[in-house]
Amino acid sequence: MLSMAKVFAVTNQKGGVGKTTTSINLAASLVKTKRRVLLVDIDPQGNATMGSGVPKNEIITSVYQVLLGLEPVDRALRPTDGGYDLVPANSDLAGAEVELIGLDRRERRLRTALDPIQDQYDYILIDCPPSLNLLTVNALVASQAVLIPMQCEYYALEGLSSLVATIQRVREALNPQLQIAGLLRTMYDPRNNLANEVSAQLLQHFGDKLYRTIIPRNVRLAEAPSYGKPVITYDMESKGAQAYLALAGEILRREEAA
Ligand code: ATP
Ligand code: MG
Repeated sequence: MLSMAKVFAVTNQKGGVGKTTTSINLAASLVKTKRRVLLVDIDPQGNATMGSGVPKNEIITSVYQVLLGLEPVDRALRPTDGGYDLVPANSDLAGAEVELIGLDRRERRLRTALDPIQDQYDYILIDCPPSLNLLTVNALVASQAVLIPMQCEYYALEGLSSLVATIQRVREALNPQLQIAGLLRTMYDPRNNLANEVSAQLLQHFGDKLYRTIIPRNVRLAEAPSYGKPVITYDMESKGAQAYLALAGEILRREEAA
């Protein structure tokens, strides 16, 4: 039977909310449950690439060549210690936006590029840059679902409305399948009253779209990338590792219930 990967864009145009941490650690956690996983880094910062143990300066074929149609995606695939495959990114990608504008089907380049390897994976996660630019639109067009990591702080909700509007526009114009998979509370500190308040508002507003799993603030999650490892290979017992394993479990249960 030919099975197609479920593709998630990990997106929030706000910087530093835990997109990359979530992409890496959810990828590794899904691998632990025996799923075949691909992580696509579509951020010129290349944080998911470095955090997966692939040095940015050693990349020959990256997502840049793939998006421009210069190389097929299988030339860019790299195995990682986390057990998932990676399509790496580096600063070459910073110029891609301008180059893409001149090309036809510029919003569909990533979707088209991933097509030939869809059946090799159960899950494909796309780590987006902190912007609603053409790279992010490419990720949204290539995906069935959007995972939105967010910190429970005062301005969190404000940015959310422009993200939801962008998702809506992409759904109408380019990708009718696109759904919000869920909102994920990251770097959570239960002693912070404001975090608890924002969290309650999110629950009221988004209901079932809010993942029940909460990612706590955990120093192991911040340390792991400097070793080029997901937290579950760096410190399996840590609260951060346990939280991402729980998130993988929640996502799989939702898929099966759907
Ligand atoms: P950008 O918008 O720049 O791509 P991002 O949304 O991908 O950022 P991350 O890089 O995942 O965010 O996280 C930002 C910083 O916070 C990093 O230094 C990361 O190690 C740290 N961090 C992320 N999640 C946690 C957590 N749960 N506990 C502690 N530190 C965390
Ligand atoms: Mg990032």
